[in-house]
Amino acid sequence: MNLYMPERVIFVPSSLKYPLGRDLYEFFQDKEVEVIKSTSNKVAQFIPGTTSGEKYASSKRTIVVTTAKSKKLDICKPSADYQFSLVSSCPGNCEYCYLQTTQGEKPYIKVFVNLEDIFNVIEEYIGQNPNEITTFEAASLGDPLALEHITGSLAKTIEFFGNLENGKLRVVTKYSNVDSLLSLKHNKNTQFRISINSNYVIDNFEHSTSRLDERIEAIIKLGNAGYPIGFLIAPIMIYDGWKDDYRILLTKLKERLGPELCQQELTFELIQHRFTAVAKELIVQRFPKTKLDMEEEKRTLKWGRFGRFKYIYPKEQVNEIREYLTSHIVERFPRAIIKYFT
Ligand code: SF4
Repeated sequence: MNLYMPERVIFVPSSLKYPLGRDLYEFFQDKEVEVIKSTSNKVAQFIPGTTSGEKYASSKRTIVVTTAKSKKLDICKPSADYQFSLVSSCPGNCEYCYLQTTQGEKPYIKVFVNLEDIFNVIEEYIGQNPNEITTFEAASLGDPLALEHITGSLAKTIEFFGNLENGKLRVVTKYSNVDSLLSLKHNKNTQFRISINSNYVIDNFEHSTSRLDERIEAIIKLGNAGYPIGFLIAPIMIYDGWKDDYRILLTKLKERLGPELCQQELTFELIQHRFTAVAKELIVQRFPKTKLDMEEEKRTLKWGRFGRFKYIYPKEQVNEIREYLTSHIVERFPRAIIKYFT
């Protein structure tokens, strides 16, 4: 797929105090991109749109270059001990994206340029448990690889973790532009996972992301470059033919990876599709023709950690998904570690 380029980029004042902020300002000077220097942190007025759909679409074409202020990291179970962000939001338009409800009516893409501060916070958290490995997820609020050709900040972060004794980085992505990461000194301290799904889910719901074949190609390159690798199958959906489609997906994955990579320790994380009432409302506004199955009557309510009820599949279907996918994974990948199913 073509690499992303925004329509407009907005620099908040603090961003230009940092080397990466100034580099990005230079980078965009000769691009066909509107460059705006904001005099405050309020940027929403620069992003056009009247309807919910228009605001969403123009936000996804906007990068805001800013700084991460918080010195406190959120817990990120079950994926990692903590999460931090190099970016938030992403250029993708996945209809089911759980960030739909957390990034407001204008989910513009933020790029955080104060990498030194971010790394200091990470070192502080590692220092709190000096005799244990602390893990950090870098992609829970966005997809840093989707912007790596612009920021280069994921590469710096991988090299930072490469020099750490007790810190491990985890990154998950739906993008495939990994070539700039292959020769980094990662020291096996970064684990990459690609998000995979059936063709039905990718084609219908994951717009402006790399296609399945491109993602698999990317993870093969990363695996061959010595990175520990794994797979996130999410969101797992039940629809006519879902069993065949997920079986075909796993068979294709095995064939593409080849015997050597298949014998490696590969992690699998399995997440069933879920939605909240607020998310459903927003999704229908932003994607009026969505085929996403969000019929509440067919689901079970579960209390979510973000303080909202979410609709998940009923227990019998949850067990069916877990057993079906687990059996097909272990059959094909002998050293697979299924980290969780949620
Ligand atoms: S790529 Fe990830 S973060 Fe971006 S819209 Fe899709 S699910 Fe959301």
